[in-house]
Amino acid sequence: MKLHEYQSKQIFARYGIPIPKGRIATTADEARTIAIELGGRVVIKSQVLVGGRGKAGGIRLAKDPHDAEEIATQILSMEIKGLPVRKVLVDEAANISKEIYLGITNDRAARKPVMMASSAGGVEIEEVARTTPEKIIKTHIDPLLGLKDYQARDISIGIDLPKQHWKLFSQIANGLWRAYQDCDATLAEINPLVITDDNRLIALDGKMLLDDNALFRHQDLAELRDLDIEASAEIEARKYGLSFIKLDGDIGCMVNGAGLAMTTMDIIKLFGGEPANFLDIGGGAGSDKVAAAMKIILTDPNVKAVLLNIFGGITRCDEVARGILVALDEVKPKVPMVVRLVGTNAEEGRQLLLDANMITADTLADAAQKAVRAVQPLGIGR
Ligand code: GDP
Ligand code: MN
Repeated sequence: MKLHEYQSKQIFARYGIPIPKGRIATTADEARTIAIELGGRVVIKSQVLVGGRGKAGGIRLAKDPHDAEEIATQILSMEIKGLPVRKVLVDEAANISKEIYLGITNDRAARKPVMMASSAGGVEIEEVARTTPEKIIKTHIDPLLGLKDYQARDISIGIDLPKQHWKLFSQIANGLWRAYQDCDATLAEINPLVITDDNRLIALDGKMLLDDNALFRHQDLAELRDLDIEASAEIEARKYGLSFIKLDGDIGCMVNGAGLAMTTMDIIKLFGGEPANFLDIGGGAGSDKVAAAMKIILTDPNVKAVLLNIFGGITRCDEVARGILVALDEVKPKVPMVVRLVGTNAEEGRQLLLDANMITADTLADAAQKAVRAVQPLGIGR
């Protein structure tokens, strides 16, 4: 689960990390009031759960409360990467003399969290990693020992931080680590952490990703979920207990089992196609779950064909077929569907689908090839 910038920064503040004074506004009028409270010069920041807000015009400086009102009007009517801006954060503006990157994420290979810092902050860290990887300083954190003072000091030195800031930087790094650990986060990031022209350190931006599997023990954090802005497909998927991730391709996939889903995606790619999603309906899915999954796939306008790959074990193929029929009846898709059913009650399942105008396949390779062919323009590969 992603948190908004303002939510992440509020959490950071509880761990002793300095953040700018500011509040959330949902109207331009509120933005003006907040700007008056903050003394005039503010930055208006769209709160949407995507990156690159700055580049999209979703972050702008306002010189006075009137300006703040006008800019807030504009930003509140924007869409950024398809997401409507419903809230803006109005923060007191900072005069920046240096932008630093500081973040923590899990390093799966090392089986430990890793703290990363860079003197090249402000820009996307992926970009820094690509062009000047030597500018990223890393240190692994032992989850039982926590972040040690010497590690924070090593980072300070590594990023050429002036000595006068070391103490506060250690405190910030430590706060970020505790926030990360306490919230069961998978990412906690400050980009930029700035040195202001009057030599203060402030977290101007904040980002946190929380582990969905641990949310059950964080009722307060679970309530921060922004249903308004999250993709509706993902909300639907969660409601039915489906594991769903949208991807950029055009072949919709419905599979039971995460490993089988990965394999299916790999084989689609092997034959030159691109999957539109990862979708695991799990073991023992009933027809209602299958129907929900099918509807989620078919509402993606990029989907030009669907590949169903069901290995019936606990899951019964006839149940799956019934779910597909329910979904087809409701959604009336125009895209070709390739289905491969094997295992428990496969024959009954196939019988049910006989009249549904589906392309059947016997093996996974056969199914993938048929799906790839189905999305190719007429004439190519047919
Ligand atoms: P992001 O684009 O979504 O990562 O949003 P950020 O909050 O990181 O803002 C992007 C950039 O806008 C920062 O790196 C700063 O350069 C600039 N910016 C943000 N807040 C302020 C501010 O208060 N004053 C000034 N001068 N620049 C700011
Ligand atoms: Mn940023």
